[in-house]
Amino acid sequence: MTITTNHHFLITCSVLGTVLDIEGGFKRDKRHTALPLKQLVIWELKPIEMMPRKNSNKHYFTRMSTKKKVHAFVRVRPTDDFAHKMIRYGDDNKTIDIHLEKDTRRGVVNNQQTDWSFKVDGVLHDASQDLVYETVAKDLVSQALDGYNGTIMCYGQTGAGKTYTMTGTTENYKHRGILPRALQQVFRMIEERPTHAITVRVSYLEIYNESLFDLLSTLPYVGPSVTPVTIVENPQGVFIKGLSVHLTSQEEDAFSLLFEGETNRIIASHTLNKNSSRSHCIFTIYLEAHSRTLSDEKYITSKINLVDLAGSERLGKSGSEGRILKEATYINKSLSFLEQAIIALGDQKRDHIPFRQCKLTHALKDSLGGNCNMVLVTNIYGEAAQVEETLSSLRFASRMQMVATEPAINEKYDAERMVKNLEKELALLKQELAIHDSLANRPLVNYDPMDEIQIAEINSQVRRYLEGTLDEIDIISLRQIQEVFNQFRVVLSQQEQEVESSLRRKYTLIDKNDFAAISAVQKAGLMDADGHLVGEPDGQGFGLGVVPFSTKPGRKSRSRKTMKEQISSLARKEGASSPVSGKDVDISTSKTQLTSFSKDGDVKDMLLRDRETSNIETLPSDSPKEEPRPPRPSTPPPKPVAFEDFKNERGSEINRIFKENKSILNERRKRASETTQRINAIKREIDVTKEGLNFQKSLREKQGEYEKKGLIIIDEEEFLLILKLKDLKKQYRMEYQDLRDLRAEIQYCQHLVDQCRHRLLTEFDIWYNESFFIPEDMQVALKTGSSIRPGMMPVSRIVSLGEDDQDKFSQLQQTMLPEGPDSISFYNAKVKTEQKHSYLKTTMGLQQTHRK
Ligand code: ADP
Ligand code: MG
Repeated sequence: MTITTNHHFLITCSVLGTVLDIEGGFKRDKRHTALPLKQLVIWELKPIEMMPRKNSNKHYFTRMSTKKKVHAFVRVRPTDDFAHKMIRYGDDNKTIDIHLEKDTRRGVVNNQQTDWSFKVDGVLHDASQDLVYETVAKDLVSQALDGYNGTIMCYGQTGAGKTYTMTGTTENYKHRGILPRALQQVFRMIEERPTHAITVRVSYLEIYNESLFDLLSTLPYVGPSVTPVTIVENPQGVFIKGLSVHLTSQEEDAFSLLFEGETNRIIASHTLNKNSSRSHCIFTIYLEAHSRTLSDEKYITSKINLVDLAGSERLGKSGSEGRILKEATYINKSLSFLEQAIIALGDQKRDHIPFRQCKLTHALKDSLGGNCNMVLVTNIYGEAAQVEETLSSLRFASRMQMVATEPAINEKYDAERMVKNLEKELALLKQELAIHDSLANRPLVNYDPMDEIQIAEINSQVRRYLEGTLDEIDIISLRQIQEVFNQFRVVLSQQEQEVESSLRRKYTLIDKNDFAAISAVQKAGLMDADGHLVGEPDGQGFGLGVVPFSTKPGRKSRSRKTMKEQISSLARKEGASSPVSGKDVDISTSKTQLTSFSKDGDVKDMLLRDRETSNIETLPSDSPKEEPRPPRPSTPPPKPVAFEDFKNERGSEINRIFKENKSILNERRKRASETTQRINAIKREIDVTKEGLNFQKSLREKQGEYEKKGLIIIDEEEFLLILKLKDLKKQYRMEYQDLRDLRAEIQYCQHLVDQCRHRLLTEFDIWYNESFFIPEDMQVALKTGSSIRPGMMPVSRIVSLGEDDQDKFSQLQQTMLPEGPDSISFYNAKVKTEQKHSYLKTTMGLQQTHRK
């Protein structure tokens, strides 16, 4: 069954476990020889239920069952002279093989192809009009009533039976074609669907020599068309402007229209000297179905295009002149454009389909492939004389089979019905809301869009809320919430503008991206080449015209620093760890720079506020009385010496607070120690009193007890002792409570002191390294970086803090008391040894660093 030559392409695909070879007889070209695997899937064929009996009238296909591809059928015109040798059908009536005799004139060496095999959806040989309709059109028409577009096309050479297949004979009912049968089926199905209001319209278009003709324009109510029929595209699709579309309510009317068109076709071919076989005719049935039962705004539309194409025979150019030549050119062109469009449709990779190249493809734009059901009937002669044309028609069919379709329902929305439905629903929901409001005892809420007055009221509410004069804004409705947010935005943007304009009144703002302005400022000497304002070595835009603090001591320099402190303190609050200054606060990223110096008053205010709110964690690190730095010594001073300097200079503020906290701590400790001593004294007295009591008791027992009504009678001395013991115990408890409170306080103070000490030492560390180790140029570079600086060393253990010894002693007193006074000297010795060791260790480390 499969004959391959070098001019063939061969595709093998599996169908229900059987392997079929599909061949198309078209010219070898890249696209068709290298079909990707994906495309094979599209080619997958499913067998149609049929009885494989040839040449009998009762046979074959019961239904189309394949989807998503164009169905191709071959109808052979009956003949007494069937070319059995050249045309053969497969047993399943789905293959048609063509065999040509070798053309002997071409010589001995002859690579001419002689055999072709075509796989189609069915070969209709000697098939009745009835069977043809059943096989080809029935399902398509039925699906059109469900909203699927459908196109049936007849292709073939003149006289092969296209018109017979499509229209049939108008005289003989039995021989009526697809067209009248389709109309009948439509009306019959409408009768079967009383639940739907289905309207039927028809139009009949003829395309002749690239001109469009309305075959139904002769009807009296249509009247002569003023404008020529043209193809128009709109978002809904393609439609033919000027083509009359006729509403038909019954079968008979539809038939009349069909006959009218047919008559016009014939008359035109006589009077206008038109050859009807040289024109394409498109009969369209438009359907629109609205549900009668549901008030659904959805409805479906569809159309059935029944296309009788012009004869596909190659019209010999030689010898043809005038009208014939013109016709030949147009037909050949339009059919080859149709073929191009079909090839493009069959190629998954192509997204542009050349529909607009000719009227035929343009008019059929939304009816070829795409979302519609498509059937092609290839009409062929059975005679040997026509076998070349037959071959060419079959090739067209095989190309058509490559077109994938994805039939889809055309659902539309009835805007009018939709609006009505929505209005109804809206009214219902409003009633529902009103009920809810009255149940919830809410005052009458208006859910309509807000007017200007209401919006203005919300605006004022928002302003009052922001000012603090209004505590909360009551939520009334969703619309109101939305408007509140809206007004927040309005107020915010107004405030932004106000802030900017007030800034502009006070400062000159330069946009960092405005290079012209920057260069002007630079020229005026107000800014250095790096875009930093004069007086700002690190580019932090404060204090235009203020010389660096290191060279000019005094009020302004101090202001500037306190400003930095402010920033630094802020940064620390936000988790930055550097305690020194605002070096790690990058404000140079802000879009504008302030090029005017703030008034000192502002800074003072800020400083004061800062002081008020600052605790130990936000210690200002700079000494307010910092003097210009003296030149750096060649060898760094010993750390203990340097530390004393540091405590008097930069670290003085921390040191002050540290000392303050420590004195509080010491005072508390002293009190605690006193309390402890008192407790001990009370304890001792309690013990003495207890002993005395015991002695009195034993004495009483020896002397013999006095008893009165079961009560022991004691003497006055014993009684006084008992009272004293009771009193002592009370005192003991009170003192003990005091001690507990004091201890908690001490613990807290200790924590503060520790933190303070740590800060003091860290600051000292940084100061020491910066002052004596890190080169000054490097320091400048580091200023822009992070808070972690090189050379930081833990010195917490190397420096004796002096006062701390006393400190530790008191601490020991607290913890060691239970172990007795002897333990104190032990722990004291231990602490001193530890101090000495760490001092030696650190000094060695420092010497090493220094050597490096
Ligand atoms: P086409 O439209 O392709 O040019 P027609 O449909 O006009 O061809 O057919 C040419 C002639 O052949 C017509 O007289 C038609 O009645 C006849 N004919 C074509 N096919 C059949 C068929 N299957 N059975 C009977 N007559 C046919
Ligand atoms: Mg015809």
